[in-house]
Amino acid sequence: MAPQTGLARVPQPAGEGDVMLEQLQYLIAHTAAAGQCGCSECQRYHRVRSVLLEIFGEPRPAKVRDIASPLARAA
Ligand SMILES: [Zn+2]
Repeated sequence: MAPQTGLARVPQPAGEGDVMLEQLQYLIAHTAAAGQCGCSECQRYHRVRSVLLEIFGEPRPAKVRDIASPLARAA
């Protein structure tokens, strides 16, 4: 029995972009409204944000350094 591909799982590159935009807008709206409550959506937002802003250099390395800094714990 052949799997029925092409009905529910049609690869659509353009649609994928729309989904990503939708997700990004959703995450931004969530953090804007909820004020970063720390839920899974907030964590997704931070991950996406760091990746997207990565190409611009390091706009806000303070938080990353704060988390990854071993000196703070060693002291
Ligand atoms: Zn949240």
